[in-house]
Amino acid sequence: MRTTMHVDGEELAGTGPAEPVRNPATEETIAEVRSASPAQLDEAVRSAASAAPGWRRTPAGERGELLHGIAAWLKAHTDELARVMTLEGGKPLIENVDEVGWTANAFTYYAELGRHERGRVIPSVEEGQLSLVLKEPVGVVAAIVPWNYPLLLLAWKLAPALAAGNTVVVKPSPYTPLSTLMLAEALAELPGGVVNLVTGGAGVGEGLVTHDGVDMVAFTGSLATGKRIGALCAERVKRTHLELGGKDAFIVCDDVDLEVTAAGAAWAAYLNAGQVCTSAERFYVLDGVYDEFVERLVAETGKLRLGDPMEPTTDVGPMVAEVQRARVEDQLTAAKAGGASILIGGDRGGHERGWFLSPAVVVGADESSELLTEETFGPVAPVVRVGSLDEAIARANALPYGLGACVATRRLDNAVRCLEELRAGTVWINDPLTDNDAGPFGGMKRSGNARELGPEGLESFRETKHVHLDVKAERKPWWYPYGG
Ligand code: NAD
Repeated sequence: MRTTMHVDGEELAGTGPAEPVRNPATEETIAEVRSASPAQLDEAVRSAASAAPGWRRTPAGERGELLHGIAAWLKAHTDELARVMTLEGGKPLIENVDEVGWTANAFTYYAELGRHERGRVIPSVEEGQLSLVLKEPVGVVAAIVPWNYPLLLLAWKLAPALAAGNTVVVKPSPYTPLSTLMLAEALAELPGGVVNLVTGGAGVGEGLVTHDGVDMVAFTGSLATGKRIGALCAERVKRTHLELGGKDAFIVCDDVDLEVTAAGAAWAAYLNAGQVCTSAERFYVLDGVYDEFVERLVAETGKLRLGDPMEPTTDVGPMVAEVQRARVEDQLTAAKAGGASILIGGDRGGHERGWFLSPAVVVGADESSELLTEETFGPVAPVVRVGSLDEAIARANALPYGLGACVATRRLDNAVRCLEELRAGTVWINDPLTDNDAGPFGGMKRSGNARELGPEGLESFRETKHVHLDVKAERKPWWYPYGG
């Protein structure tokens, strides 16, 4: 397994401290990855800066061909990549196979979008003048990525950043660096320095954020880290692109087919062991269907197979790390102490090794409990009874997060009210957690300040320049001297 970095087109062995990468299903160390030293980090940023002028001048069509090449490489290496992602991250193999496919799709999408236009021509204020709005690369982008979708969330930054003509330094999560380092083989087709892969944790991340050679920081991760990065960048007036945490609501109206809705709810809550930024983490269920919904959700949850993520029949794998599971267990313990009941799950499912947590349905949690107010990032579905859609929407909007929201309803008036009133960057109605490369993804409120995917995702990685081009080059009547 490759554990070395990719800097200036060359393989580079880290000389910083070694970090173990552990298999969440077995707790075994599967690799040791050495972090970038400060000097190596500097080398990576300098290499990206040196490559920037050439990449920026490379015709967009040529850049697009290279991105198509990365997509083709991803597709050709799906099985190997998905296997490594499963070993390092614990997500079921089938979900990782999907992730590689979605990652390739993002490269294909931006390979094409990047060549469509680079700005616009606007009406001039004078005869003989051209007014151009030019879109240019920002420069060197640091892409700092979490572990839950290591390749996909990287692609949502890397593909548009490259298509827009930027060069990039990538830092994966220390939990899941191995699949990212495998990309070096695909990146070898690009000019050296255009994409650099460096390894390490928070220290290396901060080194990138504060490096004078980095023009923009594109980050996906927790609210706490996002705030820290935001503050460091604000001091330096550096552009940020922050995709942060969520506490997504899932509203169940009283007009639905409960069999369908409960199955969708289970998937939305437990996909990737609930470690999705848009996992459904709070269910607000209308009074008339509450009891039956809870009963059906418990039944759906009971059917799920928790186990070895390599097995094709496994629905839910382990959580990524002990510390992540402990955080979820703490939330469950506190909720129980506050009067909540765990109707199913919440234990380790009989696993003595591996960071397993069996999917849980919780009712009766106090409105102010962490389980209903803070990101859980685990396989837990807290269900709350509400008296009306007004109440459901008000509760969904009450938290400072605004990443996504799900709604189950077959009534058009309910659907329209929800899509208009929910303060979330994505609203899914009857189709939780789908992605579409052509449409933007990102958070409102404290869930972030950016959008990825779609034309908005390309725009995130572009600078804007307004050019006033006067072809006559004549003296203007409004210049000095005033008064004739
Ligand atoms: P995290 O914030 O701990 O780490 C994310 C990345 O930042 C890692 O690469 C980490 O090494 C690096 N990092 C940590 N401290 C840093 C610092 N001070 N400076 C620079 N880099 C630093 O998040 P995580 O645990 O890896 O990921 C889970 C979080 O990500 C959850 O909160 C989840 O909601 C969020 N997330 C958001 C989205 C989205 O699109 N909005 C998608 C997936 C995950």
